[in-house]
Amino acid sequence: MTARLGCPHCDAAMISGWHRFHASYALPARCPSCGGLCLLSLSAQTLRSLVFELLLWSSALLALALRNWLIFLFLPVGVVLGAALFGPLFSFRPVEKGTVVAVRRVAIRQSLVAAFAVGAAWLLLGSE
Ligand SMILES: [Zn+2]
Repeated sequence: MTARLGCPHCDAAMISGWHRFHASYALPARCPSCGGLCLLSLSAQTLRSLVFELLLWSSALLALALRNWLIFLFLPVGVVLGAALFGPLFSFRPVEKGTVVAVRRVAIRQSLVAAFAVGAAWLLLGSE
């Protein structure tokens, strides 16, 4: 399997590994050459999320177990190393602006519902 390193719209290889690593439906990478929007495949986004969760929880648990808060630095160091090492391995897919806008609207709605649920729970449970 060969990763497509260039922009899927114009094939320019000007998108950095950092932007490649973080590109998603809600925050796609923008090609500086043609302005096209790109994101990682769903499997790459899933792998990236699993690595982030592994880094977060392993550094938190190790920091608590060893009582050394410097271990919490594994998370940002791991994210930067992951972006540098694995970002260039992930292929980009083109995405249209309409799709990005629709995904952002859904994310905003879900965030509002979650905020309402947390607020309602806080009011109901906090009043006792
Ligand atoms: Zn492009």
